[in-house]
Amino acid sequence: MDTKNKSITIGGITILPGERKTVDLVVGKLYTHSELTMPVQVLCGKQAGPVLFVSAAIHGDELNGVEIIRRLLKVKTLSRLKGTLIAVPIVNLHGFINHTRYLPDRRDLNRSFPGSEKGSIAGRMAHLFLNQVVKKSTHGIDLHTGAINRSNLPQIRANLDDEVTMSLAEAFAAPLMLNSDLRDGSLRAAAVKRNIPVLLYEAGEALRFDETAIRAGVRGIINVMRKLEMLPKSRKLVANTKPPVIARSSAWIRAPHSGIFRSVVQDGARVIADITLMGVVSDPFGESEMKVYSSANGIVIGQMKMPLVNEGEALFHIAQFERSSVAATSVYDFNEEMSDDSTLPYPTEDIPTY
Ligand SMILES: [Zn+2]
Repeated sequence: MDTKNKSITIGGITILPGERKTVDLVVGKLYTHSELTMPVQVLCGKQAGPVLFVSAAIHGDELNGVEIIRRLLKVKTLSRLKGTLIAVPIVNLHGFINHTRYLPDRRDLNRSFPGSEKGSIAGRMAHLFLNQVVKKSTHGIDLHTGAINRSNLPQIRANLDDEVTMSLAEAFAAPLMLNSDLRDGSLRAAAVKRNIPVLLYEAGEALRFDETAIRAGVRGIINVMRKLEMLPKSRKLVANTKPPVIARSSAWIRAPHSGIFRSVVQDGARVIADITLMGVVSDPFGESEMKVYSSANGIVIGQMKMPLVNEGEALFHIAQFERSSVAATSVYDFNEEMSDDSTLPYPTEDIPTY
């Protein structure tokens, strides 16, 4: 028997079961005298269930997540939501407006948790988000991309030693997962300390939309909501029976020399130490051409997109597995599933039914 959902109060506004409201959380005043607010959309289902937050743009230049949330909010099955969904498409407003990862106080918001009410702007924003959103949730998904000029193959980073987190990570069905340590000051560390499992989805690069990363993100969140029984099970999709692909470690391949860099491998490619040619660093005359070989066995999960590099700069991120072939198959299957005739977004209202 379903029980009735409880109302939820965020930023002093109460959302009753069956209601959908946008709340503008007040962060503070700008020096222009106007107010700085963090918009949050709350969907309070009629029936009881978990409270899930989905956040994006904690790093203000990471845009895929903003689009993932926009599409998520149009998914029709949300009308049958059990529990509550709190969607925060733009956490770091300053960074988003200025197209930068950081805040005006030069802080990284994802190193500023738990923050404080009286701190500088990053601390205040972290404090507000933690108290008004995270602490009112039972689970969370935080959406990221690679840094500027760096791509990331869609991946889940989470504490996979925790059983609940692991089951949600598996449900998300990204092509691979990394068991990643908690960083001091991160949203994930602050949430985990309060026993709120959080998945971090990392896909694509900063300041760009990546259609595959976006589609996989929307699908992943829906999958997690199904796993949590917030949404009805799909009749279309067969349960994911594939074993999870978890990296045991990861390694960086760095520029052997300063110069002009050409990559010859794609994200998701399987590489073999000392054998796979990854790219070439040359001078502008083409007189020196230095080949870069992989220094590890594994799968390329991220790489430099800017062709101008300094010696020692990270060029490729390689995830290492017990068996690279299993990971390679997972990436292949993922690309097959995600690809269709177009790499362009669906027209506005035509969100596929999940
Ligand atoms: Zn990020």
